[in-house]
Amino acid sequence: SNVVVAIDGPSGSGKSSTSRGVASRLGLRYLDTGAMFRAMTWFMLRDGVDVLDAQAVAARVNAPLIESGTNPDHPTISVDGRDVATAIRERGVTNAVSPVSAVPEVRARLLELQRSVIGEGGIVVEGRDIGSVVWPQAAVKVYLTADADARATRRAAEEGGSDVTATQASLLARDEIDSGRATAPLTMAEGAHHIDTTPYTLDEVISQVVALVAE
Ligand code: C5P
Repeated sequence: SNVVVAIDGPSGSGKSSTSRGVASRLGLRYLDTGAMFRAMTWFMLRDGVDVLDAQAVAARVNAPLIESGTNPDHPTISVDGRDVATAIRERGVTNAVSPVSAVPEVRARLLELQRSVIGEGGIVVEGRDIGSVVWPQAAVKVYLTADADARATRRAAEEGGSDVTATQASLLARDEIDSGRATAPLTMAEGAHHIDTTPYTLDEVISQVVALVAE
């Protein structure tokens, strides 16, 4: 199937698990655009770029080769051929990713990469601005949210048992930057289906999205 499913929402809303589950059940590819922003951020930090200097970041956006593997059962992400799947989840990257993602040149470069991957056919794409900016023509758009407590608990567990209070503070800080930035702020896309995942299990949310695709 050539269907494109856009899944947007804040961190910890269940986007990744839901998107992978939906792609797996429907035999679609999967793209995690947050991982691309993290990979770009990882590159900047490793390159010694001051991530708070938007001009310095903008000057290096074309330097890294960022490649995303789209198998939902085994997603991969690499920078210049090096597997960075683990490194991009580390605290240093998490703390720097929102300012890097706010740089318009970063968004423009990754938009180009995202569109070229999506254009190859059926895929579930997760991010913040997929339904609004990256692929507004997506057949199905979903906006996932969850209570701040539920999001922090899930994300801390994903991180292998981080402190929930600290994780919540970090999530909320990123939300604030992500929603307040001038370029592609986090908002619900026109035509998106809002699902508050708080009361549901992962399987229930996956089924709800699969049902929307089947409609
Ligand atoms: O989804 P994840 O939490 O890994 O995303 C990390 C960061 O990447 C977000 O906090 C946001 O700053 C940025 N991002 C973005 N646009 C996207 C996906 C992620 O700005 N489509």
